Amino acid sequence: MAKKIKEINWDYAPSLESTSHIEVKEKYELFIDGKFVKPSSGNYFNTVNPATNEVLSSIAYANEKDVDNAVKAARKAYNEVWSKLSGKERGKYIYRIARLMQERARELAVIETLDAGKTIRESRDIDIPLACNHFFYYAGWADKLEYAFPNRKVESLGVAGQIIPWNFPLLMAAWKIAPALAAGNTVVLKPAETTSLTAMKLAEIIRDSGLPAGVVNIVTGYGDTGAAIVNHEDINKVAFTGSTAVGKIIQKAIAGTGKKATLELGGKSANIIMDDAPIDQAVEGIINGIFFNQGHVCCAGSRLFVQEGVADVVIKKLKRRMDSLIIGNPLDKNTDVGAINSKEQLDTINKYIKIGINEGAEMYQASCEIPKNGYFCPPTIFTGVAQSSTIAQEEIFGPVLTIQTFRTVDEVIQKANNSPFGLAAGVWSDKGSRVFNLTSKLNAGVVWANTYNKFDPASPFGGFKESGYGREGGMHGLSAYVKLK
Ligand code: NAP
Ligand code: MG
Repeated sequence: MAKKIKEINWDYAPSLESTSHIEVKEKYELFIDGKFVKPSSGNYFNTVNPATNEVLSSIAYANEKDVDNAVKAARKAYNEVWSKLSGKERGKYIYRIARLMQERARELAVIETLDAGKTIRESRDIDIPLACNHFFYYAGWADKLEYAFPNRKVESLGVAGQIIPWNFPLLMAAWKIAPALAAGNTVVLKPAETTSLTAMKLAEIIRDSGLPAGVVNIVTGYGDTGAAIVNHEDINKVAFTGSTAVGKIIQKAIAGTGKKATLELGGKSANIIMDDAPIDQAVEGIINGIFFNQGHVCCAGSRLFVQEGVADVVIKKLKRRMDSLIIGNPLDKNTDVGAINSKEQLDTINKYIKIGINEGAEMYQASCEIPKNGYFCPPTIFTGVAQSSTIAQEEIFGPVLTIQTFRTVDEVIQKANNSPFGLAAGVWSDKGSRVFNLTSKLNAGVVWANTYNKFDPASPFGGFKESGYGREGGMHGLSAYVKLK
């Protein structure tokens, strides 16, 4: 008789990414008109490493006056230089930025991990390469706009005001800046207050690239800095990625002003496992969709729907896999789950976990050790979740997964679409016909089949309903920055 082998608890030796090659200054100024300038208020705020709570640097706070200076610099650069350059010349600058980013990829990845709390695996393998690829991709379009919009006269819009969140700091900056420049616009960009560092590194790269002064301006600050950009009368376009609540404020603020807008907002995306799905791959896809990134992804697969026949086995395997996840120092290359971006976000996540318990759902948390310092949340699932419950309806933006079961295809389509959001979805099935049937009926901007969270610069991304409007990426992303005649 085979002897039962005692389960061995494998531990990995620590494998920390070095921080010796990075430069983080004590203080970062505003990047306006090609120069680093002091904020007119003289005020700075701290940015911390959420995994340790250590202060990394102090960041300049831009008020309305600084925003006005940035918009003026962008307007001047638009009128005098950028709108007069050929697409071919614009493309050369964008390529140069992409190459400089690639050369400094390791430094950018480490700084992103320190400032945002995301794992080095994610920043090194996903954020930074994708950010570079975005610049490469749109550099290629700069001199080919007439092919993107055949038989139309293509004109740039002018000055774009761009506001981004903290979950993919450099990548979101790339999503916004690259297509705007390719289409001939100039830019004023504001990063999120907890993650300004890679935006300031990008400002250094932009300065080093020789891009004409004022074409890209980066102003750091709080929400009111963002509002000053949105409300500035000389902005032609607002591109915003962030919460649905702020998206609604922006929508109201620009109504009737003639400003063009793209809003990329929240999500509560459905990940659907059919009974003929490849179960082990699907379990890995669930983990990838909600836990590897601390759930800090707008399109996170935060609502899991499992067909009844395979529900027990999927949940069993999922719990087992959750228990093997390594949570901890984001700089360690073995870490699967990093830190929550801020104390505020951790408080929000914990508030929702309490609501889930009070609503009567059954909670299971991964049995992994949580570091004592910094902000961490163990991967968490809820079973027995009602469709109408708060945790199944509202965006949590953390490593919290709700699980519901279903019997028929019609039932899961109805449940998946019963959400105020419509950003993304995933479908796992062995049969192409089942996949196509589901993907055509799900109200989501992106639907992945037998995979999850895959991005490419050539592929458009964006949502329906309260997930916003407009598309970023691909040719669609260009149309958000041009007037067609
Ligand atoms: P947020 O609070 O809406 O903040 C986003 C950005 O807007 C930040 O730079 C923020 O500055 C700024 N801001 C705050 N109030 C503003 C105002 N009244 N006017 C103009 N700007 C203002 O969102 P978040 O919590 O940082 O990010 C998480 C949200 O982003 C989630 O809902 C997520 O789903 C969404 N998201 C969507 C996508 C997508 O493509 N659909 C991608 C990533 C994230 P401060 O940081 O200084 O407050
Ligand atoms: Mg930070």
